[in-house]
Amino acid sequence: MENSPAISLTGLIGPTVMLVFSVGFIWVWIVDRKLKHAMLLAGACALFGLGMMSQTLQWPSGIGRNALFSGFLYTLAVVLASAGILRRAGKEPGLLSGVLPLVVIMALLWYFAYVQPNLLARIYVQNFSYGAILLTVALRINPGRNAGRADHVLFWVLLAFALQFFPRTILTAERSLPMMSIAPGDSLFWQTLQLSLSVMGAALALTVLATILTDVMDELRRDRDRDGLTGVLNRRGFEEQASRHASSRRRAPLSLIVCDLDHFKQINDTHGHSAGDLVLKSFGSILLNTARSSDIVGRIGGEEFALLLPNTDLEGARDLAERLRQRLSSRPLPLRAQKTQVSASFGVVEKRFGEDLDRLLNRADSYLYHAKHLGRNRIVTEPADKNGESALLSNA
Ligand code: GH3
Ligand code: MG
Ligand code: MG
Repeated sequence: MENSPAISLTGLIGPTVMLVFSVGFIWVWIVDRKLKHAMLLAGACALFGLGMMSQTLQWPSGIGRNALFSGFLYTLAVVLASAGILRRAGKEPGLLSGVLPLVVIMALLWYFAYVQPNLLARIYVQNFSYGAILLTVALRINPGRNAGRADHVLFWVLLAFALQFFPRTILTAERSLPMMSIAPGDSLFWQTLQLSLSVMGAALALTVLATILTDVMDELRRDRDRDGLTGVLNRRGFEEQASRHASSRRRAPLSLIVCDLDHFKQINDTHGHSAGDLVLKSFGSILLNTARSSDIVGRIGGEEFALLLPNTDLEGARDLAERLRQRLSSRPLPLRAQKTQVSASFGVVEKRFGEDLDRLLNRADSYLYHAKHLGRNRIVTEPADKNGESALLSNA
């Protein structure tokens, strides 16, 4: 990032693309004001584009002034981009990591422009520090195994963008020096710089923009599939995730528990609807705290819940249902200062070969119905040998 070619319109393509990205980030922020990091990235793209433009158009004129001005725009752009990318990943950039590089880089540029003029030194200072700053950011956002695909793509694109500063500069800067004093625009350094900044800068901006949009979509999807009251999946979310499991051809056992709160209408009638809501909430957290993270837990009706349990046979599912039943009935809920005993009934089945989610749910429902008939607060499972009567289990 140094010196300048003769003005060429093609040299304005890169900066214009960056300005367009800047508008894109502003747009995202307007749509969702809590995405403040989008504004940092809008600023970064705009400053980056203006920095390129200032070099291409040689404005302000004069080697020193242009070097300092464009250097300031580029450095601030790198600092803002780093802050935006870190914030998006939920990390604090820290004031020092922004101000310190800006001051140090500007001081060095000033020194090598006015005190000890040295083009090569200015090139090295800028390129190596930007590479180092972005490399630090890439390492800090290094996504774990459970991160989404967008996070992985962002990490690799940022890493590539950060690393290119080093070999490109080392391979092209020094050998371009003689050419740069005659026709800088034709020098290998300038051309590879333009190419890498335009193409990779745009690729990075596009990736960050796509990652932010993915964040927004993920959040919308989470809200769409979650039950606001209990925190478990709603019927839609449960069916989508559960049918994916139920239709898989894997041989591992898969079981389903459906459960329904007993005499819930009575709780509503006696203590009020908001007390009923409290019971639902409390049962939701018992389900979430008792189930494993791989289990799929959903509210499939008003006070009816379902748990799909991967890698779990009938026996394991029945044990889990029993733990749920005991936890609920051993924990009287303080409703209007009165301790109220709440219980639930359970139907438990294991998936048969070729069975889809609908049929599995129907079968579990019929055992639940059976449990209600037998007096509630109990678990009914399919018979283990699949011939005899339903196996009846615990009741209070
Ligand atoms: P059973 O033991 O046979 O299951 O009896 P029940 O009273 O639990 O079942 P019923 O189907 O008669 O009543 C369910 C009640 O659940 C009726 C409905 O008003 C209430 N309900 C459904 N959704 C909600 C909700 O989100 N909040 C509250 N507070 N009540 C709800
Ligand atoms: Mg009920
Ligand atoms: Mg019901």
